[in-house]
Amino acid sequence: MADYIYTMETRLTPDQLKAVTLVQDIARAHGMNLYLTGGAIRDILTGFPIRDLDFTVQGNALKLQKDLEKAGAKVDSVDEHFRSLHFVLPGNVRAELSMARAETYDKPGKPPQIEPATINEDLRRRDFTINAMALSLNEGSRGLLADPFNGSADIETKVVRILHNYAFLEEPSRLIRATRFCSRFHWELEERTKARFEAAKEGNYIEYISRAAIGYEIEQVAHEEDPLNIVRALEKEGWLKILHPHWSTAKIDTAELQEMMKTRQQMYDIGMTVDAAPAVMYLMTSKLADKDTLEIQRLIPHKEFVAAWKRLEDEAKDLAKQLQSKESNQPSGAWKILTESKPEALLFLDMTVRNKSVEEKIKSFFGKWRQMKEKLPFIEMAELLITPQIPEYAKLVHELHMQLIDGKLRNHTEIMKFLKPFAPPPPPPPPPPPAKRGKGAKAAEAAAKAKKGKEAVAPPPQPAKVEPEAVKKKEVAKKVEKAEKKPAAKAAAPAHPAHKAEAKHAAKAPVKHEGKAAAKKPVAKAPAKKAAPKPAPKKPVTKKPAPKKPAPKKPAAKPAKKKK
Ligand code: ATP
Ligand code: MG
Repeated sequence: MADYIYTMETRLTPDQLKAVTLVQDIARAHGMNLYLTGGAIRDILTGFPIRDLDFTVQGNALKLQKDLEKAGAKVDSVDEHFRSLHFVLPGNVRAELSMARAETYDKPGKPPQIEPATINEDLRRRDFTINAMALSLNEGSRGLLADPFNGSADIETKVVRILHNYAFLEEPSRLIRATRFCSRFHWELEERTKARFEAAKEGNYIEYISRAAIGYEIEQVAHEEDPLNIVRALEKEGWLKILHPHWSTAKIDTAELQEMMKTRQQMYDIGMTVDAAPAVMYLMTSKLADKDTLEIQRLIPHKEFVAAWKRLEDEAKDLAKQLQSKESNQPSGAWKILTESKPEALLFLDMTVRNKSVEEKIKSFFGKWRQMKEKLPFIEMAELLITPQIPEYAKLVHELHMQLIDGKLRNHTEIMKFLKPFAPPPPPPPPPPPAKRGKGAKAAEAAAKAKKGKEAVAPPPQPAKVEPEAVKKKEVAKKVEKAEKKPAAKAAAPAHPAHKAEAKHAAKAPVKHEGKAAAKKPVAKAPAKKAAPKPAPKKPVTKKPAPKKPAPKKPAAKPAKKKK
């Protein structure tokens, strides 16, 4: 059985996933059953981008409004009749939460009679089979997919199919939606659906479309990935003039719209989340008379969307002003302003900018300044041990990037000079090898010589178990004493220079040799003490108290005295 939760989790963006969890938790707290429905399910299955999240609850969705708002949702429209909420969650996640309902249509184009229903009844009132599926988000049934019209099969065959013969008559906006989906996915109308579609066109059912549905469909065009393609398809079917009688592709600034979509893509590519829909609306109506644009704005049900569209010009002007202020004289200043700006304002300004210097700054922001970030001297940084593990790394990388775009670091020497103070101290040298002394040691050495070669790389088995504690202490004391007498060989290691890359390479060698030597010495001695034969060959390496014991002698002897 398909794991739809897994598919959902891999297909949704992290922000959308957070939104699902959030709505799920709130619905659970209210004891309501919740389902992910409509286009979200369709797109999870098809692999197309998921534009918005449609949730359905069994119960009054409006009861969740307060908790959603508390959790950061911006509710931009409330439909008391359908008991549904439209809201936007962090990361520009658009979502709709509706009460599961059954619909009865008395007259075409008139709002249906509705009553609360189960999720299965709710799926019957949907437009197409591909949109009539629901994924349970409830404890106990989470991940179960309700697909009563076999929408997943229609997804497979890439067809748009209505649920019954009266679908277009009941709700003529489905004609526009059918054209939109076919055009968006490059799918076909299923054969019988096509026949009903043509009949509806002939019967001019579209004249029964409600104003609310017109407004809703206008906004939907603006949210499309390729709005121009959709508008052309709508025009071809005769639906564009239904959305507004004066609307045609000739009234759209197509060249600018195409340019703007490229910038939007560029912004996505660099990880900027931007809602292009308000700017799309601006360009799609830019050649219409103001009066017509105003009418369109009045038709759109989501008032926050219209407000965002109206705000664009002012926000872009503000941003242009900031980019001409003295704060943005240096590229780093302009960079700060641009990264902190509203992406929607930046997108719009990029499209409408007239001032040369502002235009240049935006161009550099998307182009050469950004490329410099990719070319930071990571090799030199690694040589200086400046890696993501150091706490200030992100800040340092940013500062370095800013210095580079400001032209303050022009060559390798200047870059190194900038970086060196940030280099962390080198790691401490490896602990000195355990020095084995005492009576047994000589015998051990002799035995080791005899066995030399064979066990050269094997770690010494630990003799600790067979020695009484007192003897052990004596041994250690002797080791310390002895080691203190001949530290010359090791002294070189801790003293190696810290920040010079070249010196570092040189310094590495003695450390390595020392390491090898250290590994060999005890190995040679070990077998002599080997009271217990085999079984503990590895333990001594981890247990090995010896390497630690000599350690105190260095710091303990010297720093302690210094203080006194
Ligand atoms: P997308 O959001 O990707 O454009 P969608 O199918 O989710 O596609 P929405 O407008 O978000 O479209 O609507 C959500 C769901 O509500 C639809 O999938 C469909 O099930 C239902 N729906 C929307 N409009 C209608 C309609 N006119 N008639 C019947 N069901 C509809
Ligand atoms: Mg949707």
